[in-house]
Amino acid sequence: MADEVVVIGGGVIGLCTAFSLTQRGARVTLFDAGPPEHAASHVNAGWIAPTMAEPVPAPGLIATSLRWMLKSDSPLFIEPRMLPNPDFLRWTLRFWQHCNARDYLASTEAFAAFGANAFALYDRLREAGVRYEEHRNGLVFAYRSLENLERDYAALEPIRPFGYEITPVMSGDALRELEPALSATVQGGWWLPNERSIRPDTLVRGLKTWLREHGATLREGQPITGIETTGKRATAVFAEGERVPADTVVVAAGAWTRQVLAPLRADVPVAAGKGYSIDLSPQPINPPMRRSLYLHETRVAITPLDGMIRLAGTMEFSGLNHTLRSERIAAIARSAGWAIRGWPEKTPTSGPGVHVWTGARPMTPDGLPVIGWLPGYQNLAVASGHAMAGIALAPGTGEAVAEMVTTGTPPEIIAPFNPARFG
Ligand SMILES: Cc1cc2nc3c(=O)[nH]c(=O)nc-3n(C[C@H](O)[C@H](O)[C@H](O)COP(=O)(O)OP(=O)(O)OC[C@H]3O[C@@H](n4cnc5c(N)ncnc54)[C@H](O)[C@@H]3O)c2cc1C
Repeated sequence: MADEVVVIGGGVIGLCTAFSLTQRGARVTLFDAGPPEHAASHVNAGWIAPTMAEPVPAPGLIATSLRWMLKSDSPLFIEPRMLPNPDFLRWTLRFWQHCNARDYLASTEAFAAFGANAFALYDRLREAGVRYEEHRNGLVFAYRSLENLERDYAALEPIRPFGYEITPVMSGDALRELEPALSATVQGGWWLPNERSIRPDTLVRGLKTWLREHGATLREGQPITGIETTGKRATAVFAEGERVPADTVVVAAGAWTRQVLAPLRADVPVAAGKGYSIDLSPQPINPPMRRSLYLHETRVAITPLDGMIRLAGTMEFSGLNHTLRSERIAAIARSAGWAIRGWPEKTPTSGPGVHVWTGARPMTPDGLPVIGWLPGYQNLAVASGHAMAGIALAPGTGEAVAEMVTTGTPPEIIAPFNPARFG
């Protein structure tokens, strides 16, 4: 049993890890660099969508990404100055190596298995007293091309054995009956009736409140600047020159994970995949949209929340930054324009009731999270690399890490996510 556990990172992964450790009786101190609005855990679309179990590297993605990557209003953009960066080049080559059918299938199965208890674990958070805004309205997939629809629907086959509920393909009219806000451009799609959504900032705040109430120490706005090690053990962390002793250290620093581990010369290849979201409150349509909507053709997620709507999407590799690129924001807004009836011709991207956010998804080259002991260390764990699925997988990650820390042994379910696979 670990007594003093230091968790580095106050996004959903660090917070859920701290939650599960606290429930098991560990004394937890969590450090977060902040501000919270810069973390992916604040910016995301808020979907608890374990059915979306596909990893990012996929067969055919090399050709698509080459077409997209230098066009700054496409779903994927790589800033040209990143290309000569040897670390990024190595990451990209590794990523492309995983764009094959065999790895895609294996990763889909690992994701689908890991996410299978996501809803039950969210229920347990609630039962334990964590308060946040949640909606149980399912998730609609809508298409303007029937060819794209059929291809994507066929790709769901590997997920079916895991028992997720997916409706048969539905016509545009049937989808509009389900979600009247859909426009006549929508030709068809399908529905995931069990998926849920949460309002991200309320989840982060709810977890922090619960942790404070249950004796954990939160040190916000305090970045960890170093990890002290002796042989195979981490012994302390440093924050603003202060040495804080630890029996166990968990690095859950999202897209900053590589940076935090760099002094230990660990190979944990987590790159920053920047995304954007636009909040409009109130919704600019009446009656308001009720169900979450995924536009896979343009990779845009739309989430109705209490009194507002969030549009989220795009993947940008430009390093760790919060620069707002207007052409990428406009591309997200355009998608809402074709899919939603009565959507304003020009989506407001500034002004009263409008907020635009950016945050970086922690991306690994094989598309799988990195969860487990850091190779060479007995008490230094990593929990990162959740890419597009950190909300869905955070409570499961917290449980797995807490079990590993308190028993010493990683549970079997996280074997595919072992950090040693990069060594
Ligand atoms: C636009 C967008 C939409 C998304 N939509 C969804 C969705 O609908 N569903 C879903 O499941 N996932 C979604 N995701 C992905 C999800 O948001 C991420 O996988 C998840 O938030 C990652 O959480 P994290 O805790 O690992 O990282 P983060 O949320 O980035 O948190 C990392 C934290 O570590 C802190 N930190 C960094 N360095 C240090 C240091 N040296 N010391 C201390 N703290 C440090 C940072 O300040 C930060 O708070 C989306 C992501 C984006 C960008």
